[in-house]
Amino acid sequence: MVRSDLWRELCAVSARLGADRAIVQGAGGNVSLKEDGTLWVKASGCWLADAEAKDIMVPLSLEAARHRLAAGQALDAARLEDPATQHLKPSIETALHAVLPHRGVLHVHSLNATTLSILPDGAERLKACEGRWSGAFIPYVRPGPELAAEIARAVASENGRPNVFVLQNHGLVVAAESPAAAADLLYAVERDLAFSLNDLPEAPIEAPSPDPTYCWNDALSRLAMNPRLSAVACGGALAPDQVVFLGGPAAHLPANSTVQTALSEYRSLYGGAPAVLLSPGRGGYVRNDLRAGAEDILAWVIDVLLRLPPEASVVFLPDAEARALAGWDAEKYRLAQSSARAAQ
Ligand SMILES: [Zn+2]
Repeated sequence: MVRSDLWRELCAVSARLGADRAIVQGAGGNVSLKEDGTLWVKASGCWLADAEAKDIMVPLSLEAARHRLAAGQALDAARLEDPATQHLKPSIETALHAVLPHRGVLHVHSLNATTLSILPDGAERLKACEGRWSGAFIPYVRPGPELAAEIARAVASENGRPNVFVLQNHGLVVAAESPAAAADLLYAVERDLAFSLNDLPEAPIEAPSPDPTYCWNDALSRLAMNPRLSAVACGGALAPDQVVFLGGPAAHLPANSTVQTALSEYRSLYGGAPAVLLSPGRGGYVRNDLRAGAEDILAWVIDVLLRLPPEASVVFLPDAEARALAGWDAEKYRLAQSSARAAQ
């Protein structure tokens, strides 16, 4: 497949966004370009930051992708012959890129949009911020064809034809006439939605870890000194990537409980071990064997919590959905790809 100037623009935009931790974390986010009937979409598990150094955009026939989506079929068979990328799989979000009419589409877990996405009044706040762009708040559904269907519904029904979509408990999609215009729109939206940062106290004096598989973490320990943010961090999962990379929310370790009790309660809720232990008022601990790429996701969760408005409550993913995401094969593939890159 021939690579065009617009394709190079897509790669340049991807590398720029991928290097910005406030916009993209680890292997998160995906992008696309529609040109001459081809849908170029980022490969699953690849890092946007690598877009100029490696060939990570997979070409599909746009018509075949839309046809297969309407028929409820997998999109893999819509791929076009391309030796350079045949070892890769298109993003699990390919469907949302296919349904949008815009030439450039960017999906990220940027900090301000993600913070908005977990607030009960997120839809109202989004409407209050629009002006230069038109927004739609998309209720939570699992990433993939279901999410694409919700976005298509919003495009068909909302007034003013939305070009900005905040995905509840997930992140942001922006769409424009080119990848560069979409990136400009993305940064404008993040500025328009910007939340001010909560102040946290200094980290307390390091306390011994309650379990040898977990070690002290300064950022988490500062969070542990804030009762409200600690309760949110342990209360439930905020977004799919937190489940996929960290196993779910932080495990709450009360002063009067043992680690074994806290871990077994956590396992019965989320089906695995937590990446994070929070002992409110004492400290925060992270697993020694944190998966590659998971540090970025942990920093992202903390950065989102730091943006929670005072007194705001939070909408969590249902625990059953968190358990289902943890066992989902599409996410396991993405995780394996992402970890392989980080280990290089
Ligand atoms: Zn996403």
